[in-house]
Parts: sequence; structure tokens; C-alpha cells
Amino acid sequence: MDWQSYAARVKDGNAVIMLPIGAIEQHGPHMSMNPDVLIPKAISEGVAGKSDSILVAPPISYGYKSQVKSGGGNFFPGTTCINGKTLIDVVKDVLVAYARHGNRKFVLVNGHFENSMFLVEGIDLALEHLRHEGIQAQVMLLSYWDYVTQDTIETVFPDGFTGWDVEHGGVLETSLMLHLHPECVDMEKVVHHHPATFPPYDIFPSEPSWVPSSGTLSSAKNASEEYGRLLFEVCVTGIYGSVAERFL
Ligand SMILES: [Zn+2]
Repeated sequence: MDWQSYAARVKDGNAVIMLPIGAIEQHGPHMSMNPDVLIPKAISEGVAGKSDSILVAPPISYGYKSQVKSGGGNFFPGTTCINGKTLIDVVKDVLVAYARHGNRKFVLVNGHFENSMFLVEGIDLALEHLRHEGIQAQVMLLSYWDYVTQDTIETVFPDGFTGWDVEHGGVLETSLMLHLHPECVDMEKVVHHHPATFPPYDIFPSEPSWVPSSGTLSSAKNASEEYGRLLFEVCVTGIYGSVAERFL
């Protein structure tokens, strides 16, 4: 979008700015390293397609350090992460900049579990900073997988659901990528293994031996384009509902 079109769309202060936030992180041998960016971006675009008041900002592509029990850990080649304080500052700076253009309503769409509390902090500091400039803004924060309904979980995981934490590189993300970016997935390279299990504690430095050598925490064997479409639609519908309820 050119700057004049953007200015026209945001000038009344009623636009909703959706900001996808992801990570560059290995997702097994069968998938590219950027599903945490591409999935929230596509979902945001799907939501924006339902209302002229919603705009999607370019994503923040780098995220907080991959953790062993939710992302396989920060020691795989290609997994490229930023410090928590860097992520906090990027989120804060981007929100402040968009608010100075006149925007007051924001939706942060998280695609990488490890980002969560750093996003909260970035939002908090941005709002505090903006209050000093006399600007009152509101930010909605969500992670797209929280919009997957129980019905959809039962359809996509007919053999039982082991939880979002071990879904890293599994059926959820792989199905969504088969639907949105099939060129980034090679199902022949999926490594089939049982969902990873971990002790109730973490240990630092992290121990690579805790993580399946594939880098995935559960098997993507049952992933399909059809599941991906279902997951995409349930997330777009649910998130649009939240945005409409608060901001439209
Ligand atoms: Zn992921």
C-alpha cells in the first residue's frame, strides 16, 4: 500500500491495525522455518478481508528464543531468535509509531508461543509511553490457536489431543501450511514419532537430548490440506468475532 492510500484509510482514527508476530524457527525436516510468521499473517489477512476498517501491518518475523518444551529449543541450525528485551522494544516502537499516525486500535496476532509475555510487556510500555503523549490506544493480544474450537480439535485429532505445547511442527501447523503455503511443505520428509514427553521442570543450559532429533514435538503424519482449511476458517471466524466485538 502506498503512503497516501494508507493515510486516507487511517485518518479518522477508526482503522484496526493487525500486527502478526512470529519467529524464525526450525519446524522439522518437512517444513520451512517460517510457519510462525506465515500462519498469523494469512489469518490476519483473512480477518481483514471481512471489513474495510481492518489493515494488516507487515509482520514482525523474528521472535523470542525457541524453548525445548514448546519449540524444540534454540540450538537447531536455522532457528534464529532475538532477546526478550529486543522483542519488547520492537513491539513497543512499532505500536507507538502506528499510534502516532492516528491509529488507536491494534490487534497483535501471535504465532509463536514463546513470544507471549514479551508481547504483553511491549504493549504495556507502548501504552504507558503513549499516555505521556496524550494518546489513548487499545491493544488486543491473541494467539491464533486459542481460537481452535473443541469440535475442530476432535475432528483434527481423532486419536486424542496432547496439547498445543507439543504441537510444534505437528498436525496443526503442518495442516495450516498445506492449506496456505503447500510449496513450503514436503510430507514425504515427515518424521513419525510419539508426542514428546518432558519432566515437569526446565533445565538450563537446555539439553538437546530431550528433543526428538527431527525437531518436531509431535508427528505431522496426519496433517492434511483439508484440516488446514478447517483450522484456518475457524481461526478467521473466531478472531473476526473478537475484533468486531471490541473494535468495529
Ligand atoms: Zn511454530
